[in-house]
Amino acid sequence: MANSTVRLSQKEQWRTILEGQKVHAKKEYSVNLKRRRKLLSQLKSMLMNHEEAWLEALRADLGKPSVEAYASELAVLYNEIDYVDKHLAKWMRPKRLTRLLPGGLEKVKIERQGYGTVLIISPWNYPLNLSLMPMIGAFAAGNSCFLKPSELARTTAQLLEELLSEYFTPEEVTVVQGDAFVAENLLKLPWDMIFFTGSKRVGTIVHQAAARHQIPIILELGGKNPCIVDATGVSPTTARRIVWGKFLNAGQTCIAPDTIYVHQSMYQPFLTMLREQIKLFYGMNPAKSSDYGRIAHPGHYNKLIGYLQEGTIWHGGRIDASQNYIEPTLLTDIPLNSELRQAEIFGPILPVIPYSDLDALMHQLEEGPDPLVTYMFSEDRTSIQQLKKTQRTGAISVNQVIRHAANPRIPFGGVGTSGFGRYHGQASIEAFSYEKVYYKEHSIFEMKNQYPPYRPHVLPILRKLRRWLF
Ligand code: NAD
Repeated sequence: MANSTVRLSQKEQWRTILEGQKVHAKKEYSVNLKRRRKLLSQLKSMLMNHEEAWLEALRADLGKPSVEAYASELAVLYNEIDYVDKHLAKWMRPKRLTRLLPGGLEKVKIERQGYGTVLIISPWNYPLNLSLMPMIGAFAAGNSCFLKPSELARTTAQLLEELLSEYFTPEEVTVVQGDAFVAENLLKLPWDMIFFTGSKRVGTIVHQAAARHQIPIILELGGKNPCIVDATGVSPTTARRIVWGKFLNAGQTCIAPDTIYVHQSMYQPFLTMLREQIKLFYGMNPAKSSDYGRIAHPGHYNKLIGYLQEGTIWHGGRIDASQNYIEPTLLTDIPLNSELRQAEIFGPILPVIPYSDLDALMHQLEEGPDPLVTYMFSEDRTSIQQLKKTQRTGAISVNQVIRHAANPRIPFGGVGTSGFGRYHGQASIEAFSYEKVYYKEHSIFEMKNQYPPYRPHVLPILRKLRRWLF
């Protein structure tokens, strides 16, 4: 199928599969934990049996070094599957409540139910992780799903389609490849839930589609993540962690430190530490390093090289359009009104800005977009407390970058402009299911006074006995 055309017959085919998925999810998974756990183990086998093919696809799409691809795409998925599988029975156990009433007994059972069918739309930067991580939650909570992977990570999208259709039936999961036009057509179908990871602009379109169908949605959007390094936080270890987190996947990571704010007393020494660390990781010419990735597509590359003009290149800055290559770059002297100060960079360009007053900096950050995560490197407890109290952000990570997102015990997601909803581990179960209530009353006698016509003495009695009656 051509990317930008959707035949009517194709749409009808999706609709038929979708209807089949709804019936299937209701019949097979609504109470059957065994079936859901089997889906998780099939997913794990699909990854493990073809590990080399996944690594190869990620290298083809993004030039990802195998160690990075394994750590940030495969290993996190294995850990998530293992963790969810281990705890699923406990998380799904119904809650039971019993209460004595004046006329009898009230019994309540609250059970988690999957929504039915979930549409997952994923981006290109972690094309495997961000396609399957939500799928793990969707399966575990009792749903079937459609996946629309990014057309800009073509090799991975193709492999996802081939292997998911080999390991699963269309009623369990169906992959639809294509661009924005295809995605917009998918959005017209009657999903029970949508899970979207991508840009704020497209997130708005997807949010509107969910509103039209009045269905739940989770939006995992972009993050302009500040990283504050105060005078107590400056060290080679800090530089190492920041350089790793920023230039991983050539900066195309939603939780990468976007901009560094360093206390002015340590500004020059820290710039030097960052530069030395870049050299230690990627050598004098990172273009030759097998450990450094590339920009995923020319459109994004062109946007990024525009950013290089918005400040002074303190280190790096070499580019090669034939390879979509941008050297790990440290940028200084960036004007307050430049686009670089407002927009998510999402590439290997690291603005390093000095600050003198932490209060003023925090105030300034509060005025900006809501980050997915705010980083701080500091040994000063008062400053850390202040950050915790003042910032509206999806997460706060102190003295480390990226790692909070790899732990299945920690809910992941944004706030405001960086999205809403949480997933990973137990948070995924809550995201992809709802609490269905079963209520039963065992009455010994009927309190007739509760029914009309209401007698005058009923209200004073209700007031007195409210606590025992309701
Ligand atoms: P994007 O929004 O351009 O595309 C994401 C997906 O949406 C793709 O599959 C694309 O085909 C589809 N799409 C495009 N136009 C559409 C439309 N009109 N209707 C429906 N779907 C449409 O994002 P991207 O460029 O692939 O990814 C980069 C962005 O994703 C960055 O902003 C990054 O921060 C964000 N991101 C967020 C997270 C997170 O967990 N919060 C993770 C990774 C990336």
